[in-house]
Amino acid sequence: MSPRSSLLYVLLGLGVAGVEVSGAFTSTTNTLKRSRKCLRLDTSTTAKKEITSTSLHENMDGDCDIAPCLDGACATDATSTPDMPRIVGESIERLGIATGPTVWSEFGRLSQKHKVANLGQGFPDWLPPQFAVDSLVEAAVDVAKSPHQYTRTAGHPNLVKALAGRYSVHLRREIDAMAEIAVTVGASQALYLSLQTLVKPGDEVILFEPFFDLYVNQVKLAGGTPVYVPLTFVPYSLEDDNNDNEETDVVGGEWILESINLQKALSPKTRAIVLNSPHNPTGKIFTREEMESIADAVVAAGPQCVVLTDEVYKYITHAPPKEEVQDESARGYTSLCPGHIQFASLPGMWERTITISSAGKTFSATGWQVGWCVGPKELISPIHQLLPYVQFCASTVIQEALARTLAKAEAPYEGFPSYYAYLKESYTRKRDLLSNALKAAGFGVPNYDTTPGGGFFIFARIGKSIADALPAERKNSPNVAAPGGIARQDWALCQWMAEEKGVLCIPSTPFFSSERVAEGASDEFIRVAFCKTDGTINEAASALFDIQRGKKDSSVNRENAPSLESDLEEAEGGISRERIETR
Ligand code: PMP
Repeated sequence: MSPRSSLLYVLLGLGVAGVEVSGAFTSTTNTLKRSRKCLRLDTSTTAKKEITSTSLHENMDGDCDIAPCLDGACATDATSTPDMPRIVGESIERLGIATGPTVWSEFGRLSQKHKVANLGQGFPDWLPPQFAVDSLVEAAVDVAKSPHQYTRTAGHPNLVKALAGRYSVHLRREIDAMAEIAVTVGASQALYLSLQTLVKPGDEVILFEPFFDLYVNQVKLAGGTPVYVPLTFVPYSLEDDNNDNEETDVVGGEWILESINLQKALSPKTRAIVLNSPHNPTGKIFTREEMESIADAVVAAGPQCVVLTDEVYKYITHAPPKEEVQDESARGYTSLCPGHIQFASLPGMWERTITISSAGKTFSATGWQVGWCVGPKELISPIHQLLPYVQFCASTVIQEALARTLAKAEAPYEGFPSYYAYLKESYTRKRDLLSNALKAAGFGVPNYDTTPGGGFFIFARIGKSIADALPAERKNSPNVAAPGGIARQDWALCQWMAEEKGVLCIPSTPFFSSERVAEGASDEFIRVAFCKTDGTINEAASALFDIQRGKKDSSVNRENAPSLESDLEEAEGGISRERIETR
């Protein structure tokens, strides 16, 4: 059987499985619909509390969580009823009230219920590059090697060898494939296992705020206490904003780490600092100076303190720091991801760092779910010890496919010297499409000529005219899915845009601690993804442009909308929104 016909065969098989899955899903949905109640566990009393429907919630037909989870943790309704309290384990208790609907389940639901251009969840809406799909098919039909059985728990040999080769270049030291790498189910599990092996109850873990929301509950699950260090938002002056719209009522800005804030947060209990660069949600790339201040903090905190560096977006440094790129060429050093600073390569930091990444963002294959940890044997071997009690191994066939994909990604691709160069260029173009659209609609965005950026999100600042367009009754209305039960400005705006304006973005509240939310730190921002086909971004641009005009699906005024047409969508193998929503 040829690889192509095999792929067809595999896809047809999945289609049949899909029918069964969707049948099961429907019946779960019906069960939820019948209950017409949302349940939340109050673990302070270990008792079930019923959250009655709010006026907003009535629109939900009583469904708390019917959407597939597309990004981050997902809660489902518990099986017990208020009359039959469940006995819960330590992990659920540690999560506290964070066991109800999440931003991801709520906005996943909205994306299914309303026809929207979805700039919400962080997954590309196109197929992985052909060489990656081919690698998967080749791996699947390789009868001689048959990667369909268990592989080495700590990581499939072909994959850890390929990763060791790359990280030996990234970190400029020889990496031992068997002792210094652990393969996990996505970067999420790499983070989870790192925290589980490091943290004891009472330990503190520093998170820079805003943060990728997964970190908070993972720290709590490990028995640790999150300690938040705020990044400071510094708005541009009007000249630095590079805004050609003279009537603008909002400017973008930069998020910076003030080292004094980090120093204040240190204590003898500081067990770990989580560094995410490029950063979700802001797109920030931490500067070398900021990273050096983190290295100083690790030393100051004491020998117990290590850094977990989450670099899942390292190949998407679309606005690399200029001085880093220049320094590299001055030093005669060629980085595999130009502009990305490997924290573990700073003096003295290899011994104190677990470097975490995954393949999902790089190869537009977030469902492959292969991630890894790289670090010194002392930090990696506890993860090796824990792995067999979590699962015997991550999927062998996907690990083998990834090893083959890595070998092919260095080759020239679509007129670029490598797939990585293509990826960066393609995201730079998409970023500009979205950032121009946001600016034209009345949001403040980073000026990427002066502010480095990476990843595939823009943390857009809500301008006054946008805030004024939001119907007043929506602001601060009750909402069970919103943190604190209240839809503050960012949440209300995103919900309104999804329900009434045809575009879906993610509010910023989930990326802040409840204390900072209460202070209003998140009110001004929303997270907007540009890992979407040009068609989706164009559609969103049009919808965004109409916000202030109070019109839905209007063609009036659209002649003033930024021209965002593109002929590249076919070339990038764009798949339609309808298709992705039914998957
Ligand atoms: N870290 C960050 C910063 C992320 O944005 C994500 C995905 N949204 C992850 C980790 C999780 O990656 P994975 O899908 O490989 O588990």
